[in-house]
Order: sequence, then C-alpha cells, then structure tokens
Amino acid sequence: IQTLYRLFHQCRKTFAPLNLSDYEAIGRCEQEVPEYFNFAGDVLDKWSQIEKERKEPSNPALWWINGKGGERKWSFEELGFESRKVANVLSGPCGLQRGDRIIVILPRIPEWWLLNTACMRTGVVFIPGTTQLTAKDICYRLLASKAKCIVTIDELAPAVDSVASKCQFLKTKLIVSESRRAEWLNFSDLFKAASAVHNCVKTRSQDPMTIYFTSGTTGFPKMVEHSYGSFGLGFFICGRYWMNLTPSDIVWNMSDTGWIKAAIGNVFGPWFQGTCVFVHAMPQFDPKVILNTLCRYPVTTLCSAPTLYRMLVQHDLTRYAFKTLKHCLSGGEPVNPEVMEQWKSQTGLNIYEAYGQTEVGMICGNMKGMKIKPGSLGKAAPPYDVQIIDEKGSVLPPGKEGDIAIKIDAKRPFTFFTRYVDDPVKTASTIRGNFYITGDRGSMDEDGYIWFMGRSDDVIISSGYRIGPFEVESALIEHPAVVESAVVSSPDPIRGEVVKAFVVLSPSLKTQDLKKLACELQDHVKKVTAPYKYPRKIEFVEQLPKTITGKIRRSELRNKEWGQI
Ligand code: ATP
Ligand code: MG
Repeated sequence: IQTLYRLFHQCRKTFAPLNLSDYEAIGRCEQEVPEYFNFAGDVLDKWSQIEKERKEPSNPALWWINGKGGERKWSFEELGFESRKVANVLSGPCGLQRGDRIIVILPRIPEWWLLNTACMRTGVVFIPGTTQLTAKDICYRLLASKAKCIVTIDELAPAVDSVASKCQFLKTKLIVSESRRAEWLNFSDLFKAASAVHNCVKTRSQDPMTIYFTSGTTGFPKMVEHSYGSFGLGFFICGRYWMNLTPSDIVWNMSDTGWIKAAIGNVFGPWFQGTCVFVHAMPQFDPKVILNTLCRYPVTTLCSAPTLYRMLVQHDLTRYAFKTLKHCLSGGEPVNPEVMEQWKSQTGLNIYEAYGQTEVGMICGNMKGMKIKPGSLGKAAPPYDVQIIDEKGSVLPPGKEGDIAIKIDAKRPFTFFTRYVDDPVKTASTIRGNFYITGDRGSMDEDGYIWFMGRSDDVIISSGYRIGPFEVESALIEHPAVVESAVVSSPDPIRGEVVKAFVVLSPSLKTQDLKKLACELQDHVKKVTAPYKYPRKIEFVEQLPKTITGKIRRSELRNKEWGQI
C-alpha cells in the first residue's frame, strides 16, 4: 500500500501543472526539499503549459523596453523556445558541459534572461557580473571562478581581451553584438543557427547552480555558491509574500544584472508566481525617465535599492500619476524613515523593506499586510528563526543590541548558500554554536521586529557609547538641507573615536554659510535622537563613495579618517 501511495504521489507531482502549495510548504520547511529540482524544467515549463491551457490572454513572462522605441515581449512559451536555442549554443559551439562555469556580464538586455535560463537547462553554473566591472575586476573574477566561458558586449570586450592571456581557464568568449570580433563567437549568429530542441537536464536540489560575487562593501567580493534548491526553491516565499506577486502583476525591479537582487526580483521571485518581469534597459538611473515610465506602463510592483527612492523623493511626485503602481519594495541597504514618509505622503504608497544577504537570501521582511514600523527591517522571513545573540551565542532579550543571527537546527536551512568557493575557513567562520552570524548588528523589539544598527565593522564606539551610523544618518536626512550622508568613526584624543558625518547637500542650499549650517545640523541631530549621537565632526562632500550596487562604502571613509589609505 505504501508503495502504491508513493507512486500515486509521484504521478500527481509529475503531471500536476504547478503545485504552488507544495512549493510554499517547502519554502516554509514544512515539507522535504525534493531530491530533484530544476527551476527551468519544473517551474518555467509548467507556466508555459498553463499559459497554453488558459482561455484568456496572459501577461508576458518578460516585457523589455529600451526607451528608444525598442520593445520585446515573450510569453513563457517563447521564453522556453528561445532559451532552449541558447542552451544548444552553450553545449554546442561554446563547448560547455554540466558543472562548467560561465561569467555573464551583460546590461539589462533580454539575452541576460535567456542565458540565465539556458544555464539551468544545461547545468552550466551561471556567474553574473555587472557591466561596471573594470579589466582588473574581470580578471579577478575569471581567475577566482575558473570560468571556462565569458559572455559580454562590445564595450567590455577590450577589457576582457586585455586580461584573457592571464586567465588560463578561459576557453571561449561569446559576444552579444551586431558586429563580429576576432577570437570571439558571435551570439546572434549561433542563436540563429541553433536548434530549439533541448531536454532540460535533471538536477539534484543540492547541485551547484550559480555563483554570486558579494557587493564587496567591506573587502574583496566573496564567491557565494548557491544550489538549484537554495536559489530556485528558496525564493518562493519572497516572491509570494514580500513581493506579493500573482500572474496578473507586472514587476519592475531596477537592480543591476550582476547582483543577487536581480535574481530575486527579475527571475525567481516573479517567475515562480507566473508574474511578468518588466525591464527598462536604462543605462543610467534617470529619475524623470523612471517616473514617466511608471506613468506610461502598467507596472504594479516596484523594487529598488533605497538610493533610488532617495533620488525620486527629491522630485515633486504629486505631478506624476502612476498608471497601476500598488506595491513598492526596497532592500540591500536601510531605507531612512524620512524617505519612507515622503514617498508615502506623495504617492500614497508604503515602502516594504526587506533585509537579506547574498549568502542566505531574505532574512527579514515587511510582508504585505504587516504593520510597518519605519526604520525596522520587519520580522524574520520564513523559514528563518532570526535572533539577536551575544558573542557566546546566547539569545539576548528584546531591546538589547547584539549580532543578528539565524538559528540553525540539526540541518542547515536549504535556503543557505552551499559555501564560499575555495574558502572553507571563511565558510566555517559564519557559524557560532547553533547560529549563522550575519555580520550585522541590531536588536529585536517585543513584537519580533528587527532593528538594524549597522554592519559590525561600522558601529562607532565613542566614550563607551555604541552608536549605529544608520540612526545618525536617518536623523540628518530629516533636515531639509541634507540629501544623503554617511556616518563613520573618526579618531579623537580624548574620546578615542567620535562620530563624523559626510554630508551631501541639496543643490539649492549649497551656497549657505557652511559653518553655521554644520552647527545647525548638529543641533538638529541632538534634538531628534539621543544627544550623545550627534556628529562632532561634519564634512560637506559632493558625493559619497559607493559600491557598484549603490551601497555607501563607509569603510572607505573610515579608513581615510584613520589614515589607512
Ligand atoms: P561584502 O559581504 O562583500 O562586504 P555586502 O555584505 O554588501 O558585501 P551583499 O550580500 O550584497 O554584500 O549585502 C548584504 C548586506 O547588505 C547585509 O549583510 C547588510 O549589511 C546589508 N543590507 C541588506 N539589506 C539591508 C536592509 N534592508 N537594511 C540594512 N542593511 C541591509
Ligand atoms: Mg556581506
């Protein structure tokens, strides 16, 4: 009887179009992770089947525009067709086999989505990189990852060529371009000639699927390896509950293709839910272009880093009538409560923030429907049990500051990265007793909301007080003269270290008496937060140093202060 029952279940799973409730149970760790899983075969191809059986028209799977009249719309079926051709390009002319690694450095063009999907179909390990990488960055990535193939565009081909001879593992270069380049295979030529018949490989949930380089906010980017299970299955909850997506939604996620947020917001989160991914090829963020696009296209869900919201609220948003926008998301860095408030008062929409890491995906979030406490990261996101712990690994009571950590029971959560590639020591260093240590500091309140203090390295200790930069930065931004700021420690003969703020002023207020303004800002911070946190030193700057992902590099400013550069 048991065998029959098992067979029945296997058949049900094989033939069921797409059992989202099973995926939800897996995402919450209430059901075992299946032995085999492949997002392309098990999810994308199922949506393509559902699309065919559906009577009414569906949203496209991908809707791409370039702002210059260029547009492409692919259904899930078309996506399947095109990505199978690309799969044949990878395993044919590019000579790649399952387990081989490929670096894909492409801007927001449809080929990025095709290559991403084709890698899943062939079992080739996908390593994305941003187009802002320099020759040195590319060399570092090629050597560290031992990638056999690289894909890029005309603008970056010379940078690749300048380092290729040093990269002994690199065998094939593939260019996405209208013109041919010596020693490079041409994507369009191969794509045209490729067959669309391809059988998706059967992958185990633990098989390596992708390697992401971290943002490198605090040092060299680390190679974080994820599996078909951790990446594919791991983002179900995120797509459904944080992004709140359904097949009738259209999501516009602005992340650069090189970062994990692109995987979450542009691939797995939406496509798991059958949602349309909207893309504007925009080479640079232009607030006006973004605001006009939201007025012209039926985007329902917007996802971006806080820096973009900070830019957008500098404009009079009441002049823009967004067509269908109803849900806004932010992650990667803290959103200042002031920015949230301005966005809400001008658009009527909340910003739902999530906190996560390349290593473990979404850790905390403000899920749709939850009460938002501005400035908090929200609550632990399933399947995680998030706690604040001390240096011995003991859980701290509400209100106490400590390390933000994830409880690990007997088994590592399936959503975790597999490892830092070639760095077992670093991989092991993330574990303290029964906890995974995020490297961030914060506290939890009585309601289970987590409050971010800063990265462990960014916390300032002045006269015995511990000060998180985020709180001071959020206080500063409440002043009308401040566009953004970065707060770091600076040496002081008496106090050891003091709070120093680097401040970017609003263009209209730059001509003020800066000495007077500095005093005004200090008084302002003393008023809106505990006075001991006020910045004793203030420097006005044109811009802040940022990572390519747009995160403030406080470590760079701090090193300068302490004379280490
Ligand atoms: P590296 O590890 O190379 O120094 P990184 O930590 O910036 O770079 P990511 O994995 O891209 O690389 O970013 C994760 C980190 O970003 C978190 O550990 C946290 O410090 C910060 N972060 C992410 N989301 C939020 C958020 N909503 N609020 C505050 N900080 C956030
Ligand atoms: Mg990190």
